[in-house]
Formats: sequence, structure tokens, C-alpha cells
Amino acid sequence: MKPSTHTLICGAGIAGISAAYHLAVRHGIRGITLVDERPPLTLTSDKSTECYRNWWPDAPMVGLMNRSIDILEELAEASGNSFHLNRRGYLYLTADPEKIPAFEQEAQTPSQLGAGPLRTYRSPGEAAVYRPSTTEGFRGVPDGADLFLDRAAIREHFPYLPDTINAALHARRAGWFSAQQLGMYMLEQARAHGVEFVRARVTEVNQSHGRVTTVRLNDGSTISTQNFVNAAGPLAKEVGRMLELDLPIHTELHLKVALRDRLGVVPRQAPMLIWTDPQTLNWSAEERQFLAEDNHTCWLLNEMPAGAHTRPEGTADSDIILLLWEYKNHQIERASEVHPTSNRPIIPPPLDEMYPEIALRGMAAMLPRFRDYFEQMPRPVLDGGYYTKTRENRPLISPLPVEGAYLIGALSGYGLMSACGAGDLLAAHITGSELPSYAAAFALERYNDPEYQKILDDWQDAGQL
Ligand SMILES: Cc1cc2nc3c(=O)[nH]c(=O)nc-3n(C[C@H](O)[C@H](O)[C@H](O)COP(=O)(O)OP(=O)(O)OC[C@H]3O[C@@H](n4cnc5c(N)ncnc54)[C@H](O)[C@@H]3O)c2cc1C
Repeated sequence: MKPSTHTLICGAGIAGISAAYHLAVRHGIRGITLVDERPPLTLTSDKSTECYRNWWPDAPMVGLMNRSIDILEELAEASGNSFHLNRRGYLYLTADPEKIPAFEQEAQTPSQLGAGPLRTYRSPGEAAVYRPSTTEGFRGVPDGADLFLDRAAIREHFPYLPDTINAALHARRAGWFSAQQLGMYMLEQARAHGVEFVRARVTEVNQSHGRVTTVRLNDGSTISTQNFVNAAGPLAKEVGRMLELDLPIHTELHLKVALRDRLGVVPRQAPMLIWTDPQTLNWSAEERQFLAEDNHTCWLLNEMPAGAHTRPEGTADSDIILLLWEYKNHQIERASEVHPTSNRPIIPPPLDEMYPEIALRGMAAMLPRFRDYFEQMPRPVLDGGYYTKTRENRPLISPLPVEGAYLIGALSGYGLMSACGAGDLLAAHITGSELPSYAAAFALERYNDPEYQKILDDWQDAGQL
């Protein structure tokens, strides 16, 4: 290991790897050291659903995602699509006729903010011009979104949806890819351009006269560095304390379940399917009585939140599907997720054994054939990780108040889709290159602006699944 370095990046998740890639490969900087106590991409970045979209209700987020997806597409072209980028889209669904005006209204926002045109269909005839997505690849699919406000039109194009469906919004610059393969591709490129990976824990970041000077590792070594990048994911707050900073971020545990869909309930060519209605789960009378008797389970009889989502995973001959549903109130759950005195997120995170069954039951509102699994559920594989978030769910990609220190973090539930844009922005900060229009919205300094504090008080829809 070199005793001195141009930039030391703490964390080899997707954020740290993207930062290293952009500095070394796209800006030609030598002397980049990437330090992680774990193998690359193994804390949060391998737990994700691996989906992406530019469909956000916030202008800076649309700008960041458009840039990120541009880079993703460039990398896919350059690598022969080694990370299987597809463009199947996200399909947002509702069965509630009363929601249609709001659904229509909300669909206009991302479009007006730069996410592409909105095409609205009120009859099967109007929907005849709709262009379905290809199953693989990302070329030749329209931008923007298609809004279907007619049941027959929806069922013509998505026959597996229930006959209660009333509106569907298909966001098109969206889909999924292999996060591991993207991350390894960027890491290999970065290493070929001189980036050194060091397996160690950062234990101290030292400063002198308000400037970063040296970084100490748990093997006792010290490296002097011009720049230090905090890319520590859910541990970014802890690493921030090494710089005597209290970063305005928190963590939130999110789980996901994979299972074998032997009955083919989720079509292999489906987009990401998202149920936007709250729902009450379908229990038998006997189950209802059983659940009602216990304080720990009686809440399962209440109305549950919107947002159950699923997608097929793997190639056409695979039968794996992923299910996700944030049905819990995080304020209640947080006590089990963080260490009581250090407030550090607990790693590995605690898993909720009820999650697979509840998520599966939640999917039945959207795809009724999921009920065929209620009696005998396929064996689930459950995992999860932490979303690291700011209050308003915008990321922090920013210089820090200590000169030479930077943060690329708070990437919440969108860290894979934004990683390329985030690394690109961070590298622009470090190299003093021209900053994009959305840079200020992701800078730590935004919290010093009294006007921004007022905006935060009224902040509502963060657009996060
Ligand atoms: C269930 C779930 C579903 C998700 N779905 C999606 C999705 O569909 N699309 C999407 O874009 N995003 C999704 N995400 C979010 C995405 O996974 C994260 O935003 C992203 O992985 C964060 O990457 P990171 O590099 O910031 O953090 P991490 O991947 O956690 O990497 C941080 C690294 O820092 C290292 N580190 C920490 N402290 C130190 C230290 N002191 N010394 C050395 N190393 C240190 C850790 O070991 C770790 O390797 C999902 C997340 C979850 C949990």
C-alpha cells in the first residue's frame, strides 16, 4: 500500500466504486485508494432489487437519474451489456376509481420535470399506438410514460392484471440490471487505471488547520491523502464523526424476498409491477381469529399501506421472482435496527420471519393467482439492508466543511440507479470541473439556507418505493 495517495475512498459499495471509476477512468487521476473492511459490494449494494427509473417527482432527482442512466447506457454499450441492462419499465397500478384524477395529475409531474413525454390512453383504440417493451436490452423503447385510463386497454396489454384494475402508468426509462456485474465492471476498469483496493477498516481521519491530512487503518498503518471520500453507506454517520461532523442522515431497514414462482404467476416478460393502493389482507375466518388474539399480530387485520411490488428475476428459463413491501411503520421498528448506545445500525440486520408470507399475501391484490400459494408457499430466501437517508430523501454528494473531505451517500433506495450520476458529480467536485444544475440540491450546504428549511417543513412526496 502506498504511504500517500491523491484520494482515499472509504467504502467499496457501488457509491465508492463509482467515485473511484469516475476519478481514475474518466478524469485520469492517479493515486486513488479504495478502502473497505469487507469484500467490494457486499454490505448493501448486493441486497438491492437492482431497478432503475428516471420517473421522480423532484427536478434535481430527474436530472441526476437522467445523467446516471445516460452513463449506464454508455457502459452497457462499451461492455457488450455485460450487466444485462433492460428497459422493461415500472408499471404503477390502481384499482381505486376515486384515485384516477390524482393518478393522472401526479403522472404529469415527472414528465414536466424532464422525465419524458406522457402519452394518455382513454380507450383501447387510443392505446393501439402503445409500444410494448422488449424483454431484454434497452434500445428502441420510448421515453417518458404511457398512462392507461381504460380497463379494457390495460387488460389487452397486461392480461395478467385483475379485472378490478382502473389505471396503469408505465414509466419507460426504467427497468433493471445486474448490480454486481455493473459494480465489478466499474471496479475492473478502475483497477486497470491504477486504483488500489485495500481490505481494511478506516479508524481515524486526521485534520490539521481545517484540512484532511492522514487516514488511519485498523492494521495500524497511516496514509497521507489530499482528499478523503466518505462512501461508507449505512456507516457514513459513524465515519462522519471521524471528521467531527454530525451528518443529517439516518438508516431504515428494508427487506426483500426471492422465491420460485413455480405456477408462473408473474409473467417472465413483465415489467416491475407496483400496487399503489392500500389494502386489507385476505385472511380466512380462522386465521383472523388467531391473529386478533395476539397483540403482536392483531395489526395484520388493519388496513396496510400501498406499495407492494414484484418483478421476475433472471433469464427467461428462471422461475425466480422478487417481492418487496414496506408494510411496517419504521418509527415503530427502529429500536431493533440500531444499537441502543452507539446508534449504529445493527449488521447483519435483523430479519422479520413473517415478511415472506405477508409480502406474498400483499401481492394477491395485484396478481390474484398469488392466492394459490397461500396453502403452500414456495421456500423463501429473505435478505435486506439499510436505506441511508436524509430527511427529504435527496442524496448527499458534496464537499464537507473540512477541506479535502467529501461525502457520496444517503443514496436511500436508489443507490444503484443513481450511482453512475453520483460518482460523476462527486468527481466533478473533487476535480473542480463544471458542476451540473442539480449539484446544489445535493450539497450539504443546502441545510444552511433558511429558505430550504422552509421548503423542508412542507416536503411531502419523496417518490421512494
Ligand atoms: C431491500 C433493498 C432494495 C433496494 N432496491 C434498490 C433498487 O431497486 N434500485 C436502487 O437503485 N437501489 C436500491 N436499493 C438501495 C441500494 O442498494 C443502496 O442505495 C446502495 O447499495 C448504497 O450503496 P453504498 O455504496 O452507499 O453503500 P454500501 O453498499 O453499504 O457500501 C458501503 C461500504 O462501506 C464500507 N465501510 C463502512 N465503514 C467503513 C470503514 N470505517 N472502513 C472501511 N469500510 C467501511 C462497508 O463495508 C461497505 O462495503 C435497495 C436497498 C435495499 C436494502
